[in-house]
Amino acid sequence: MKTGEDEAMRITDIIATTVTVPLEAPLRHSNGAHWGRFVRTIVEVHTDEGIVGIGEMGGGGESAEQAFAALKTYLVGHDPYRLEELRFKIANPTASLYNNRTQLLAAIEFACLDIIGKHLGRPVYDLLGGKLRDEVEFASYLFFRLPNEQTGEGEIRTVQQLIQYTERLRDMHGFRVHKLKGGVFHPDYELECYLALANAFPEDRLRYDPNAALSLEDAIRFGKAIEHVHNDYFEDPTFGLHGNRRLREFVRIPIATNTFVINFEQLAANILQPAIDVILLDTTFWGGIRPCVKAAAVCETFQLPIAVHSSGELGIQLATMLHLGAVLPNLTYAADAHYHHLLDDVIKGGKLHYENGCIRVPDGPGLGVVLDRDKVSEYAELYKRLGGYPYDRDPARADWFPLIPNTRWADHRA
Ligand SMILES: [Mg+2]
Repeated sequence: MKTGEDEAMRITDIIATTVTVPLEAPLRHSNGAHWGRFVRTIVEVHTDEGIVGIGEMGGGGESAEQAFAALKTYLVGHDPYRLEELRFKIANPTASLYNNRTQLLAAIEFACLDIIGKHLGRPVYDLLGGKLRDEVEFASYLFFRLPNEQTGEGEIRTVQQLIQYTERLRDMHGFRVHKLKGGVFHPDYELECYLALANAFPEDRLRYDPNAALSLEDAIRFGKAIEHVHNDYFEDPTFGLHGNRRLREFVRIPIATNTFVINFEQLAANILQPAIDVILLDTTFWGGIRPCVKAAAVCETFQLPIAVHSSGELGIQLATMLHLGAVLPNLTYAADAHYHHLLDDVIKGGKLHYENGCIRVPDGPGLGVVLDRDKVSEYAELYKRLGGYPYDRDPARADWFPLIPNTRWADHRA
């Protein structure tokens, strides 16, 4: 039997596999598009007790395999239970000036929590204070979409296409909250689309997110024009804490961000000099599930509302969002997920299901999702064939790139 230090579990290996999983159609956003598929790196952390934990990371259309391989020097021999030490080993805040590993840290934290949960035979939510709910509500995530390259279907550009698509999602998954991703077309046209949604679904709640592409003036104009409809919030309307603080003087809708408050320094700055009302917690951007739980506690103290953000996900990352959503007492908004745009997943049993707009929190040990080896191989092969893509470019507009604030809108008539 192991004694003292020897009792600790040890990380023995880190294996990363890049996969690409198809989407129904390319999703347009203010900086470019998800080009008809997600590229995600799956990480498996092995231990000397034979327990393997899984994590996941995005990376703007690129593989993170090499970055994970480089972590082996730091982490082989590390005890996965020592989560605070993990942070200082690979992402201490001053070394991050040279090596920013926040997103890598997040994926390794997911895997370590998965290991601890499997070791104890308890779900991750039990390691985070215990669940307060059995399911997490999600918003539909409405994107303007290009047609699917193979089938020519799935385009969302006209008001009619947007409304029909939203109706279909409501029927299929039961969403009663809808987030429109904007910043693609001229703000006047996107305003027309947003108001059409409000008009078509008067009982439902809405949120609009142009990823800070609007000038302060456009954001004021847009915000004032939607004040009368059922808004959750106005998400990253314009750039920066100062821009949004100015906007807040003019627009009477809560302002949300997943861009300008993504660490504790920024959270403190925003509390001392308020600019943002709703803090969107992303398990990747904040460096793990646990930092999000800590941030939620700060927000609870200062009565700042929170929501669970999506930076794109397969089933592993989705599980982190579900465990997070399960334990937050002050979660009053529906979470975001890109998930319903995916055609498949890499976890056993296939995609998790929505019911009445909600997804059940997995109850199995650890994250409660298990890799489907065949699917991982299939989509790793697809990645080898197709490679990555530039997330911050638009496949429909060669040589285009946006300004912030943007004026180079796509043409909604074609
Ligand atoms: Mg956003």
